Amino acid sequence: MDYDVLVIGAGPGGYHAAIRAAQLGLKVACAEMGNVGGVCLNIGCIPTKALLHAGEEIRASKHAADFGLTFGEMKLDIAKLNGWKDGIVKRLTGGVGSLFKANKVTHLVGQATFLDAHTVQVGDKRVTASNIIVATGSESAALPPFPVDQQRIVDSTGALVVPDPVPARMLAIGAGAIGLEFAQVYNNLGSKVKVIEFAPQVVPAADADAAKELAKVLRKQGIVIETGTKANGYTEKNGELHVELEDVKTGEKRVEVFDRVLVAVGRRPRSGGLGLDVAGVQTTDRGFITVDKEMRTTVPHIFAIGDVVGNPMLAHKAMKEGLVAAEVIAGKKSAMDVVAIPAVVYTTPELAWVGLTEAEAKAKGYNVKTGNFPLSASGRAMTLGDTDGFVKMIADADTDLLLGAHIVAPHASDFLAEVGLGLEMAATVTDISLTIHAHPTLSESILEAAENVHKQAIHIMNR
Ligand SMILES: Cc1cc2nc3c(=O)[nH]c(=O)nc-3n(C[C@H](O)[C@H](O)[C@H](O)COP(=O)(O)OP(=O)(O)OC[C@H]3O[C@@H](n4cnc5c(N)ncnc54)[C@H](O)[C@@H]3O)c2cc1C
Repeated sequence: MDYDVLVIGAGPGGYHAAIRAAQLGLKVACAEMGNVGGVCLNIGCIPTKALLHAGEEIRASKHAADFGLTFGEMKLDIAKLNGWKDGIVKRLTGGVGSLFKANKVTHLVGQATFLDAHTVQVGDKRVTASNIIVATGSESAALPPFPVDQQRIVDSTGALVVPDPVPARMLAIGAGAIGLEFAQVYNNLGSKVKVIEFAPQVVPAADADAAKELAKVLRKQGIVIETGTKANGYTEKNGELHVELEDVKTGEKRVEVFDRVLVAVGRRPRSGGLGLDVAGVQTTDRGFITVDKEMRTTVPHIFAIGDVVGNPMLAHKAMKEGLVAAEVIAGKKSAMDVVAIPAVVYTTPELAWVGLTEAEAKAKGYNVKTGNFPLSASGRAMTLGDTDGFVKMIADADTDLLLGAHIVAPHASDFLAEVGLGLEMAATVTDISLTIHAHPTLSESILEAAENVHKQAIHIMNR
């Protein structure tokens, strides 16, 4: 065999697997047909966060007048904005390349296809490996009436290149993380943005109260959000997109005019064209590769990780699964056995959660108790000029066990980590409320939400 481990795909899952396998002394190659870093670094997590930050600076600069700071007329150099974002991507993907070199991971360039269960064609090379890790990721799901041309009808990749001038009127189809993040970027850059969502709430996977709170704040910022709405198709007239929208409940139809449409209705696994059938690897009817807790597919020496194995399609889930697969191959006792995977929508305020939603906890039969703390009562939030949002904590009334937390707040993604640790360590709500949190910080909102579970928060009336 040429290698102990061949990883297919160099996204977050693939590059974590390759580096950990190399750290554990294995001879590793990683095949990548595009840029190292995968979707996350090139056209996902990183560039969206860069655009969100730039947009947020624009929004914040307008509010600076509240404390007496005004600027002259704002000028936005869109070419520079795109270039700045691309520079960050370049630096990070270059970093992955350097990490491969430093760890002696062989980077094979080209598209990989299975020839048999141990042999893979990579570009014009034939490679054999004792173990293979499939980390081919996902791609945007299509919405057939809206074929993507990356100009007028874009998916997330097209939306990452900010056009000059920005579209005057934009429609985002889908109010998941991707739809809402781009809605806020373009709203802050000056577009008039509407977001429609088929489901009755934005971010359908999130806790209902948290999703409602986020939608309320985004509406206050000027983004029009309509849930229970679908888009049937469009006609182009004089360069404008006349889109037919339909109320899912009443069936009522209307036509609205936009300059650009973003299709953000989900992602599908990239498992076709890999020759998985030749290797004997099974997939579900939706194309996700079936794996067990060790990330093994139906063929014991072939592993699969990341978006290609299913939800949640998040970078940190892919990374963890990559480490597990590498460790299992190296003979370590390792498994994907986690209590909770955090999820974040990186708007301002962010929506971040970890653990069970209230509805999930009830469905599991817990005697659910909740605690709430509004940011309007947070001293730190006031000093930041951003008091929209709340923390909602979910607990088991019988055992005091912490079950989850749902945060709508600036920087929620950073201080959510505490709750993730709490869940993994089976913390009770009392454990959180006994922990001294620095003052003034946004993280105190977690402390007060925990105290509110016991009706003992100090800075609010406990209801
Ligand atoms: C706009 C957007 C924003 C996002 N923001 C976030 C975020 O903020 N946080 C978060 O956690 N997640 C985010 N995600 C999701 C995140 O990008 C994915 O969960 C993550 O990239 C999955 O990693 P992966 O390793 O499974 O696959 P990918 O990152 O999809 O990488 C797969 C790689 O495999 C390569 N490949 C595929 N087939 C082959 C083949 N046959 N041969 C060789 N190479 C192949 C591809 O070229 C690709 O580089 C975002 C996604 C999008 C689209």
